[in-house]
Amino acid sequence: MKTTERRPAAPARNGEVRLTGQPVSPGVAIGHGCVAHDPPPPPVDTARRDCNPEQERTRLHEAITRSTAQLRRLHERLALLPEDGQVEIGSLLDVYRRMLGPSRLRRGIENRLAQGMLAEAAVLQETEALAAFMLTPPGRPAPEGEDAVAARRRAGEFREIGRRLIRNLSGTPYRSFSALPNGAILVAEQLRPADAALIDPSRIAAVVTEEGGSTGHTAILLRALGIPAVLAAHGVLAQMGRRTRLVVDGMTGRVTIRPATRTAAAARVAVAAYARERQMLGRLRRLPARLSSGEVVTLQANLEIPAELPMIAQSGAAGIGLLRSEFLFMNAAGVPDEDQQEAVYRPLIEAMAGDPVTIRVVDWGSEKNSDVLARMGIGDGGEVNPALGIRGIRLLLQHRGLLETQFAAILRAAMAGPVRVLLPMVSSMGEMRAAREIYARIGRRLRRRGVDIPDPLPPLGIMIETPAAALMADVLAQDAEFLAIGTNDLTMYALAADRAARDVAGLYDPLHPAVLRLVRMAADAGLRQRRPVSLCGEMASDPRCVPLLVGLGVRSFSMHASAVPRVKQAIRAVGMDDCRRMAHRALEAADGQEVSAMLTACADSLRQDGDG
Ligand code: PEP
Ligand code: MG
Repeated sequence: MKTTERRPAAPARNGEVRLTGQPVSPGVAIGHGCVAHDPPPPPVDTARRDCNPEQERTRLHEAITRSTAQLRRLHERLALLPEDGQVEIGSLLDVYRRMLGPSRLRRGIENRLAQGMLAEAAVLQETEALAAFMLTPPGRPAPEGEDAVAARRRAGEFREIGRRLIRNLSGTPYRSFSALPNGAILVAEQLRPADAALIDPSRIAAVVTEEGGSTGHTAILLRALGIPAVLAAHGVLAQMGRRTRLVVDGMTGRVTIRPATRTAAAARVAVAAYARERQMLGRLRRLPARLSSGEVVTLQANLEIPAELPMIAQSGAAGIGLLRSEFLFMNAAGVPDEDQQEAVYRPLIEAMAGDPVTIRVVDWGSEKNSDVLARMGIGDGGEVNPALGIRGIRLLLQHRGLLETQFAAILRAAMAGPVRVLLPMVSSMGEMRAAREIYARIGRRLRRRGVDIPDPLPPLGIMIETPAAALMADVLAQDAEFLAIGTNDLTMYALAADRAARDVAGLYDPLHPAVLRLVRMAADAGLRQRRPVSLCGEMASDPRCVPLLVGLGVRSFSMHASAVPRVKQAIRAVGMDDCRRMAHRALEAADGQEVSAMLTACADSLRQDGDG
């Protein structure tokens, strides 16, 4: 995937060449670049139709046996990797191994062999056909947004397993990184996930590639391995000579080739600062999220896909505050049934080892659409204003079977640890009551059947995402056992500015006092009704905002796992009086810019106090 325009790199006056690619894994490294060339794949004759199917089938089975053994050896190497790398790479290797088993891919290849094709050609054409099917499903619009990212990843998985089989069919070797010297910076045309799995993070200082993007498996693996990496740094290979020095900044995407003395010195300082910061954030992980005045705040993590679990475990988060269950329906062949859903929830709950997990039932509609449901004619009604149409709980109450299945799966999985169940996009008491009635009924049904579920049922709560829910939070909280403020949508609905539209991006501002006043109303309502209140919109990941939100009465936050240490740091630097002062000033401000300027000034003065 080529994501940025190619421009020839020109040296600066001091002789160094600077390129910018996609930053995919943070950290700074300085070292010699070593180019790892991939032996070119053999040409494949796709025209032949006169091969002996039996012979080709035997060759294919031998290649499958060799590929399976290679994947098993890669799996054995996992123990050498950091824990988060192990989980990420392990699940990817499992995907490859499943493809080599009795899969749709295997059936497709065998059908082509029956037509007299060469095994290499059958593999190439079948994997390409499946990849194309993922990217542009026939008769349906091409996937967009997160679905498109998932589709590209899946297409990449088919192509990767195809390349492996073809290499094994033709006996073409893989490249090896074992000859690279310690501390080298690996430079390559592109790096496939299986290559990334071979990298030893204790030996390779950084990775730079010509091709690639930030959302693929390779990027995820490099992040999991903690290797600073910049992908899509076009022109880097043309600059590489013998022992070419490089500085790689995985935070900004900057790659400096043949750095001048000053640049190299600055890079050494940045390497040391990054190491210190990681150490400091690592120490923070074990410290409580406590204000300097003593009050404790809960910091939890949001989970979009299970692959984030290792990062959550490392972040020091006290549980999962928002499990967006939409991933279950992405890229799936059909609606996952009760058993399939339980099999996903249970290990996630077990992995949190007693820390609570808040599972939100699917929130389809608005800017989020599911291919699987669309195929069933659900949630893709072509509304004029989808954000104001059938989404979240509205959709689930129209298609109750979906809600019943998900409730049942969650209740069964809840035997594995503490769980809470969250309803999205609630705007009236009627919706809350209808959902609770279904929840209780499903609970009774499971018990009647002798299925083990918790008694009492796990708490059922609601997202506060609409101004109506915030204004009525005290009434809703009579029935909802907890409130989770979703400022992403609350901002959109309060300010009538679409969160996904570029034209109104300037109007979409979670720091607008109108949004903050709604947050305070919801927090007050929770306090009055003795219901726990958390906040799980993007603003919970911003260390500048969280003290203000504490001042507004919120004591629990759920955020992207990577934000937990910094938010904790911000919490520990302020006292409750500071938070309340910020909240008071913000609620009286004229607009979001004024609030933002105030928060920046507060953060600066706290930093100076800390330095002084
Ligand atoms: C929100 O709206 O703030 C929220 C957390 O939900 P989502 O971003 O999934 O709509
Ligand atoms: Mg939302």
